[in-house]
Amino acid sequence: MESPPTPPMENHTKAMNRRTPLSRTTPLRPVSAKQRGAKGRLGNAYRVVDAGPRACFACGSSFQLTHSHTLTQKQFPRHAANPANVVLECIGCHALYEHNKAGYALRFPEAFAAKLATIRQLEPQYYALQALKHPNLFTV
Ligand SMILES: [Zn+2]
Repeated sequence: MESPPTPPMENHTKAMNRRTPLSRTTPLRPVSAKQRGAKGRLGNAYRVVDAGPRACFACGSSFQLTHSHTLTQKQFPRHAANPANVVLECIGCHALYEHNKAGYALRFPEAFAAKLATIRQLEPQYYALQALKHPNLFTV
């Protein structure tokens, strides 16, 4: 029996040399069902948030809005797709909240108080711990 002809090596090499990301050449991307589900749930949460006011939660701007998690996705994956844990924030305010909570609290006391209320509601134990660690920040 004859085996089917193998494709010329030349073509194969050409394909390998193209500078196209593998993610775009591979038809089946290595994304698990679990990952797809998580992404879908996150998308649903974002749609809920997007249906609300299209303005930065902190400064009110409508420019370059992003989805900002009050409790981080990494630390609290169980709240990642909870719309109550997500607000719209412009890039600047999002970055400020992420990297400088004290600065955010000083500049946007009302928004920060609202976020504290969310944290207290979603993770009361974590809230109590943070309130002990940062008594000046957690004054709600
Ligand atoms: Zn803003």
